[in-house]
Amino acid sequence: VVMTPSHKVITPETSIRSISILGSTGSVGTNTVDLVKLTPERFSVTALSANRNVALLAEQARALKAKIAVIADESYYNDLKEALSGSGVEIAAGRRAVIEAAMRPSDWIMSAIVGTAGLEPTFKAVERGAIIGLANKECLVSAGKIMINAIKQQGATIIPVDSEHFSIWFGLHSIDNNKINTIYLTASGGPLIDTPLKNFKNIKTSQALKHPNWKMGKKISIDSSTMMNKVFEVIEAKNIFDIPYNKIKILVHQKSYVHALIKFNNGLIKIIVDESFSESKLEAEIEKSCGHLTEGAYGNCWEDWQMSSGGAATITILLLIFIITAIPATSYLYRLIKSDITDWRNRKLLIRNRR
Ligand code: NDP
Repeated sequence: VVMTPSHKVITPETSIRSISILGSTGSVGTNTVDLVKLTPERFSVTALSANRNVALLAEQARALKAKIAVIADESYYNDLKEALSGSGVEIAAGRRAVIEAAMRPSDWIMSAIVGTAGLEPTFKAVERGAIIGLANKECLVSAGKIMINAIKQQGATIIPVDSEHFSIWFGLHSIDNNKINTIYLTASGGPLIDTPLKNFKNIKTSQALKHPNWKMGKKISIDSSTMMNKVFEVIEAKNIFDIPYNKIKILVHQKSYVHALIKFNNGLIKIIVDESFSESKLEAEIEKSCGHLTEGAYGNCWEDWQMSSGGAATITILLLIFIITAIPATSYLYRLIKSDITDWRNRKLLIRNRR
C-alpha cells in the first residue's frame, strides 16, 4: 500500500489498476509501458496517446490491449486506423481526443506529454480526482496555482515523477512543511557544465542533447544543458510542496547519486540517494558535493529521535534528572566512605591504645 502525503491510501498492490499513459511513446511513456509489461496481469490499460509516432503507439496498444489509442496530430488518423485494424482497439485523433482520453475513468494516469500540450489533459484528470504520476512539469510551471487549487478541491493525488521531486515527496511523507528549513534540489549541471563560456557559440545540438547521466526526451535534455530545467524544477517544487522560493536551493552534484536533501529546522538533514550505488562510493560523493551542508548536523542514528515528538525535550529532562540525583548521591557516598575510613582509623587507634 502506498501512502500519499495527504494519507490517502493508494490501491493495494494486489488489486488490478486501470491506467492511462499520455505521451506513451516518449522517454517517460516508454518506461511506464515497460513497467506495465512486467506484470500485465495487474493492469488494465484504458488509454495510450502520442503526437505522431503511429508505429510505436499501435505496437503498444496491441501489446497492452489498450481500450483506446489516440494520436494528437489529426493528419495521422488514417495511418493509425490502418495500423490498428482488426485489433479491437478504439482509435481517435486530435487535441480534443487526447483531452477526452484523460477524462475516461482510470485509477492512475501517467502525465508524460511534453510541454504545455500536457496541461489541459492533466487538468481534466485532476478534475475527476485521479491519481496522477506527474512527469509533465510544464503544467505546474505555466499554471501552478490553478492546478494546485484544483488538486485540493477535487481530492486528486499528484505523485511527482521527476527524481528530485519524487525523492522529496518520499522523504517528507506526512511531515509538516513548517518544519522545513531548506530543500536542496540537486543538479548534474548537464553536458555543458565544463564547457568554457567562450566556446558556447560553437556548441552543436548533438552536444547539448548528450546528457551525461540520463537518457531523456529532446526538450528536457536541452533544458538541462542550459540549466533552465532546474528553474522549472524550483517552480515545480514550490507548487507541489507549498514552500516559498527562499527555502529552495540548487546544489550542483554532477554524479546525480543524491536526488535531494531536506534540511529541517531542528538541524536534521535527510539525504535521499540512489540505492543502486555502493555505500562507500556514495559516502565519498556526499562528502564532496554536500559535505559543507552536513557539518554539525545530527548523525543518521538520531533521525527517529529527532523526528519523534519531544525527542530533544526528553533528552534534556533525562540530563536534568541525572544532574539533580547524581550530585547529592555522590556527596552522600563520599561522606559515607569518609566516615567509614575515620571509623576504621579510630578503631585501629583504640585497639593500639588498649594494647
Ligand atoms: P519525450 O519528448 O520523450 O516524449 C513526449 C511525449 O509526448 C511523446 O509521447 C510525444 O509523442 C508526446 N507529444 C509531443 N507533443 C505532443 C502534443 N502536442 N500533443 C500530444 N502529445 C504530444 O518527452 P519526455 O518523456 O522526456 O518528457 C515528458 C515530460 O516529462 C516532460 O514534461 C519532461 O519535462 C518530463 N520529465 C521527463 C523526464 C525524463 O527522464 N525524460 C524526467 C522528469 C520529467 P510522439 O512520440 O509522437 O512525438
